[in-house]
Amino acid sequence: MMSESSRRIRIRNASLVAAAALVATAATAACGAEIGSAGESPGGASGVSAAGKPVVTAAMYPLQWLAEQVGGPDVTVTGLTKPGVEPHDLELSPLQVAGLQETRLVVYIRGIQPAVDEAVEQHAADRSFEVASSVPTLPSAGEEGHEGEEEHGHEEVGYDPHLWLDPARFATVATRLGERLAAADPAHAQGYRERAAETAAGLTALDGELAKGLATCSSRAIVTSHAAFGYLANRYGLHQIGISGIDPEAEPSPARLAEVAKVAKQEKVTTIFTETLVSPKVAEVLAQEVGAKTAVLDPVESQPANGDYPSAMRRNLEVLQSALSCS
Ligand SMILES: [Zn+2]
Repeated sequence: MMSESSRRIRIRNASLVAAAALVATAATAACGAEIGSAGESPGGASGVSAAGKPVVTAAMYPLQWLAEQVGGPDVTVTGLTKPGVEPHDLELSPLQVAGLQETRLVVYIRGIQPAVDEAVEQHAADRSFEVASSVPTLPSAGEEGHEGEEEHGHEEVGYDPHLWLDPARFATVATRLGERLAAADPAHAQGYRERAAETAAGLTALDGELAKGLATCSSRAIVTSHAAFGYLANRYGLHQIGISGIDPEAEPSPARLAEVAKVAKQEKVTTIFTETLVSPKVAEVLAQEVGAKTAVLDPVESQPANGDYPSAMRRNLEVLQSALSCS
């Protein structure tokens, strides 16, 4: 019975993946035309922007948000990942790589964007803040993860890179970033430290809201498109079942889909979570299979269409409260 259903999923999945690839290509082309200069070097020598401020380069949106909060008016923040682009396995333009030589500090997480890891190592090793080394990390594959499966670009670090989804850890990162900026630009050290403390306090408050809001729920299992929510699940006592692994581009095997469907039924899951930047089709097929609905849970890997990191996390809280029947 299970093999029959998994085969049905696989057949649908094959054409859906092809369709999704077409959509992704079109979206990338559109983005490139619209936001031509995003992520390019803001110019200037010795890590200073045209506005005369130190340039801070952030590899992906959550880090860009954090750098803007902590850097404030004292820095020019530039992002390597364009808005609306899925950041995993980002490819860098030669201009972006050249731009790294002109930056005062690169903020990145090793193990999520191999091209960034390599470029930083070659061009900005002495001016980089590797975020994952500043907080305790979790292993990349959970019990229900994707053990034994090949995941290009992610297997070597051995930890889950999605640490910004735990606001408590992210508060620690804010404090560390304040120290790094203070060291890189001593003239404005006090401002960096003050804004870091303020940002950390805001993230700690957000952590409190999530902890309170998810304390009493009738279900604690979350089925997600890719396994981005390990830190959130770990922090608030939820149980993540990722359809694909750490990498959203990795296509789940029919066996994996059948296994997820089985666990979802066992756990009486009512909602299968989709993401904004990943095709919801596989999740939709799975939802149909187990008689659940779908809802968007944002891994905040890219800039939200509306709002910012904290508002996206508060939307996630509302979505989770509804899906898990939290009181
Ligand atoms: Zn991810």
